[in-house]
Amino acid sequence: MTEMLAISNPATGQLIQEMPIDDAAAVAAKVALARKAQSAWAAQPVENRMDCLRRFRDLLVERVDQLAATMTAETGKPITQARNEILATPARIDFFLDHGQSVLSDKQVFLEPGDSPETAQLKEVISQDPLGVIANISAWNYPYFVGSNVFVPALLTGNAVLYKPSEVAAMTGIAIATLLHEAGIPESVFIPIIGAGPTGAALLQEPLDGVFFTGSYGTGQKIAQAVAPQLIKVQLELGGKDPAYVCDDADVAAAAAGLADGAFYNNGQSCCGIERIYVHTAIYDAFLAAFLAQVKGFKLGDPTAEETYLGPLSRQAQLAVLAAQVADAVAQGATLRLGGQQVDRPGWYFAPTVLTEVTHDMAVMRAESFGPIIGIQRVADDDGAIALMNDTDYGLTAAVYSADRARAKTILGQVNSGTAYWNCCDRVSPRLPWSGRKHSGLGLTLSLAGIETFLQPRAWHWRRQF
Ligand code: NAD
Repeated sequence: MTEMLAISNPATGQLIQEMPIDDAAAVAAKVALARKAQSAWAAQPVENRMDCLRRFRDLLVERVDQLAATMTAETGKPITQARNEILATPARIDFFLDHGQSVLSDKQVFLEPGDSPETAQLKEVISQDPLGVIANISAWNYPYFVGSNVFVPALLTGNAVLYKPSEVAAMTGIAIATLLHEAGIPESVFIPIIGAGPTGAALLQEPLDGVFFTGSYGTGQKIAQAVAPQLIKVQLELGGKDPAYVCDDADVAAAAAGLADGAFYNNGQSCCGIERIYVHTAIYDAFLAAFLAQVKGFKLGDPTAEETYLGPLSRQAQLAVLAAQVADAVAQGATLRLGGQQVDRPGWYFAPTVLTEVTHDMAVMRAESFGPIIGIQRVADDDGAIALMNDTDYGLTAAVYSADRARAKTILGQVNSGTAYWNCCDRVSPRLPWSGRKHSGLGLTLSLAGIETFLQPRAWHWRRQF
């Protein structure tokens, strides 16, 4: 009998849909189908592939209400934030469409001095081939963003994609596949695979040409180990424990507003969400008061309501993780300023939580929380802040709030992270590489390098005569 994936609404805890899970045999058949189809897809003129992706972009905008409702139903993401994510995806797609052709084009890198390209005795050229058949194993927190960072440039450059959405966003995964197919991407070139960890693990047993993963450090390690014998490209976009430091010369009100949003947007379930805040002692009291006022102003409630800013957690199991972080912190001397427990209502709601007098002995300052909870720590000076920002296994992003750009640059230059923010946070640009250091990942998406990553270069040595 086919095993079914049960999908529940985090706002109510009620079952909303069941979907057949792909077992190992189904996964193998899908990989074989993609393998058969890939070379014809790569042989098409790039304009055809671009046309399909352009139509996909337009369909996202056209169907935004329906797509957002699906994402909200299965992940609990507030409806306004669901729409924001979908409507911000076309800008990323446009970046890939604008630059794909030039990345794919042949590059002449050497010509015998004095020769023309047509008559050269010796010419060196680089051309690009797609990797082939790739797996895209994805996360649920921003399914449109993290998915399209991978499958859009992968398809554009001629790869076939086995797309395994998270089991927490499987309905959205099917919606994305349906739209891509409607836009003209062949069903054998973009294939959704439904299931949880065991389905992902089965996919990695198949012959692939690359694996592009977004998810946690723990799963990333398993993925790297599982595909190591295949010696294929592995890219891992993993978690973070992203710090922010508020200097004594910062605009306190702006920093408090920006960091409260950075910590609590999408209920704190963002890879680059703010997870630790360090505040210069000179402005600590003013910052804390402004920050608490911001958080108290966030409206918690039904995620389908327009005014809701904080919905339920997407995963029930995370309620216990957050409660344990609060208990550990309080036991070790932290002060609970706000929240600290599950909200007394149906669904998987955790109250927005602010802890102060925290230290790096506490899990809340070391382990990824991935929820509406933040620790705020007082620091004496910039050196103290830098040492604490670097005291982590992760290295995704770091933010500094200061009136002085040079000071921020000096501080950020000493923090080991893939992204540096001055007076902003929790921000991603298609023009900039998105990469994590240490336990935050391997490889990158976005930017021109995020298109090249789906290609393998071929080095051409053209010699006219022996
Ligand atoms: P997760 O690691 O639990 O799951 C991610 C995906 O891996 C899911 O599709 C899951 O089904 C699959 N999976 C689980 N076990 C597997 C296995 N053994 N083999 C193959 N696949 C397997 O992560 P999640 O809860 O979906 O996402 C949250 C995590 O993702 C957080 O740590 C977050 O920081 C991180 N994240 C990182 C980025 C980034 O860009 N760096 C972006 C979004 C999320």
